[in-house]
Amino acid sequence: MKYISTRGQTKPMDFSDVLLMGLAPDGGLMLPEHYPHIDRTVLDEWRTLSYPKLAMAIMQRFATDIPAADLQDIIERTYTTEVFGNAEITPVRKLENDIHILGLSNGPTLAFKDVAMQFLGNAFEYVLKKKEARITIIGATSGDTGSAAEYALRGKDNIEVFMLSPHGKMSEFQRAQMYSLTDDNIHNIAIDGMFDDCQDIVKALQQDAEFKAAYNLGTVNSINWGRILAQIVYYFKAYFAVTSSNDEQVSFSIPSGNFGNICAGHIAREMGLPIGRLIVATNENDVLNDFFNKGAYQPRPTDQTHITSSPSMDISKASNFERFVYLLLDKDSARVHELFEGVKSGQGFDLSDLMEAVNSRYGFAAGKSTHTDRLQTIKALYEQHGELVDPHTADGIKVAKELQQDGEIIICAETALPVKFAETIIEAIGPMDIARPAHTEGLEDLPQHVVILDNKAELVAEQIRQYVKANPA
Ligand SMILES: *Cc1c(COP(=O)(O)O)cnc(C)c1O
Repeated sequence: MKYISTRGQTKPMDFSDVLLMGLAPDGGLMLPEHYPHIDRTVLDEWRTLSYPKLAMAIMQRFATDIPAADLQDIIERTYTTEVFGNAEITPVRKLENDIHILGLSNGPTLAFKDVAMQFLGNAFEYVLKKKEARITIIGATSGDTGSAAEYALRGKDNIEVFMLSPHGKMSEFQRAQMYSLTDDNIHNIAIDGMFDDCQDIVKALQQDAEFKAAYNLGTVNSINWGRILAQIVYYFKAYFAVTSSNDEQVSFSIPSGNFGNICAGHIAREMGLPIGRLIVATNENDVLNDFFNKGAYQPRPTDQTHITSSPSMDISKASNFERFVYLLLDKDSARVHELFEGVKSGQGFDLSDLMEAVNSRYGFAAGKSTHTDRLQTIKALYEQHGELVDPHTADGIKVAKELQQDGEIIICAETALPVKFAETIIEAIGPMDIARPAHTEGLEDLPQHVVILDNKAELVAEQIRQYVKANPA
């Protein structure tokens, strides 16, 4: 299978090459030339597979340039009880009536990003070894992404990680998670500034072509194809968990920010998984809610992004959205190019004439949840079911309940565990002890390793020079 860009100007590439990429050279996003179709007979064969076996069956249709035995080895080392706390990896539990919760947050950093990032870490290491290459990952994080990346890449050969975070702006738990790591290849840098300042520094270094080449700079952001691929697997797994025959349809409600998670659901549906509706749940940052209800996409400048109590969805632009629009526009890459160049310069676009396809053919629906909704949902679920959910998951459940149709089965993604966002849980319910997995006991008491720097790209560059040997010019 070959990979092409949504903008149509990149030559077809292999999976291994795409794996190490951020944006395509033409500014688009990489995706497979076509999505493989899975018929009902194959679905039946997959129904009883364990998580790693199912992951193998799905991924080998996409990662065709990795020998099967090697891919299987990567997958089997990734999806273990040891890493995800249980053999199901992404277990489903029933909430009420036809609403289920899909537990995606049982990995090392207690957020769904681990499911993909743990795979990516092992796949990166494998591909770099094959190519005899190395990579310096630089990233900016306000919490979940950075810690998931660090836990996936810690101790890996030929990979150095420099993760920038805004000094004093993350939760105590998130800080402890990242800064307590002692691996030599993990470098935590706290910047005296905001998240956007961190991101600007990353951008500045990435755009310095000479520096980028000298130190093999790379990223692991949410547009990475390997992450999307790994996320497709749990849509299949969850579908099998709540149905007994492939004649049944199931919908998913996904708390969304960059459109990465739900994009994987969209691809699973395109592959033939009997998904009814894909429900996009947003917080107060509702650009996606607007698009999926009205057909107008109007990204906002970062200074108009709301800071909310479901912070991992605080985005002003949905960076994976282009993958869906490409398909919606029948792979018209010239048009995609035009629309998203517009987005880059702050313009929106209107595809309201295609809403019939968005809703019926592709099955999308959307709703929004606010701080008050989130608190009410957390409180009600706890009082009625003894069920504690994090603020992002609460957004998804709120929207699912609001949009649920007669007889519709909806699986709501649990994208983080409540202990990560204790403040909001306590605001909703009152003082309480929030359960946490054993491996995070005492986390906040461990010594922390972090370098605090002024908000200057050059200071970060110096850190990189100090730890990474430059390639000869
Ligand atoms: C990243 C994240 C999201 C949003 O996922 P996208 O793939 O960006 O849409 C939702 N909830 C949590 C807890 C996250 O960390």
